[in-house]
Amino acid sequence: SFCNAQESRYSFEKGMMGSPFKLVFYAKNDSIANVAAQAAFKRIEKLNELLSDYRDGSEINLLSAQSGSGKWVQVSDELFNILAISQDISQKTDGAFDATLGPVVQMWRHATRKGIFPADSAIRDAMSRTGYKKLKLDAKRKKVLLTQKGMRLDIGGLGKGFAAEEAVKVLRSFDIKSIMMDAGGKIVLTNPPPGTKGWNITISNGSDSLKTMPLSHVALATSGPTYRYMEYNGIRYSHIVDPKTGIGLLFHVRTTVISPDGTVADALATAFSVAGIEKSKQMITQFPESRVWLVEKQEEQVAEWNTLE
Ligand code: ADP
Ligand code: MG
Ligand code: MG
Repeated sequence: SFCNAQESRYSFEKGMMGSPFKLVFYAKNDSIANVAAQAAFKRIEKLNELLSDYRDGSEINLLSAQSGSGKWVQVSDELFNILAISQDISQKTDGAFDATLGPVVQMWRHATRKGIFPADSAIRDAMSRTGYKKLKLDAKRKKVLLTQKGMRLDIGGLGKGFAAEEAVKVLRSFDIKSIMMDAGGKIVLTNPPPGTKGWNITISNGSDSLKTMPLSHVALATSGPTYRYMEYNGIRYSHIVDPKTGIGLLFHVRTTVISPDGTVADALATAFSVAGIEKSKQMITQFPESRVWLVEKQEEQVAEWNTLE
């Protein structure tokens, strides 16, 4: 249309939450574009202050520090909302997604740094302080209870998807309509670029197969052990942990999920990675609006499941 023809493409990049974040959108002029992009990045910075498990003083770590005190803790809307989505996904995935894995994630981070495999007793101890059913939410008052001492929340499995959604809200408040927000592989798309059918997004299965699709008004998240893992005795353990065993995934799995919402897409990419193809086929019935491409590799064996089309 006449109006769209006046808009130009803008692109911004910034390292945030330990990943490259990329923002592309169409706007009327440079000053609107710059102000909007700075506001979007500032929003993500704020979220990181609240939700980062790397910062001692983050709201989420202060909440975890009160675990076992018996106190219902008042939290920010942001923290409450992300925990509410997380708990919903945990219930629908039979705990394959679990934001209470903090003690186990911390243990593995430590082990990775030292290059020492944790003792069985350490894994058991960390595991005994996890379990999403020990996290209670009071939706009316936005209060949270962690029922056991030594619990630790970790929203790393859906935080970037959540940040992408929040950044898009900020851009929309500047009347920007065609947006692609890529938060370290968790992507939220709004209207197509002016005069096109969609954002051309290329999805890979991790090796030979590529698929480019024009997408809009959806979110897309990819999860895989490709970037972060622990190697011990020649075995690779993913940073995605199986909540049933407390151990990083052993099989190489790459999961792409397309959902209406970025937070859900991010969480499901993690959950389906844990569940594997067969169980994920059951789970996806709980998420009728989501589609998935899951590739499992065990030694030379490759199994794929693809509902993207
Ligand atoms: P990434 O954010 O690295 O792209 P994910 O979205 O899969 O990949 O998130 C992995 C992170 O989620 C881990 O680093 C850890 O903090 C957390 N995590 C690990 N296992 C689980 C799990 N089963 N459920 C929820 N969160 C998990
Ligand atoms: Mg993550
Ligand atoms: Mg995830």
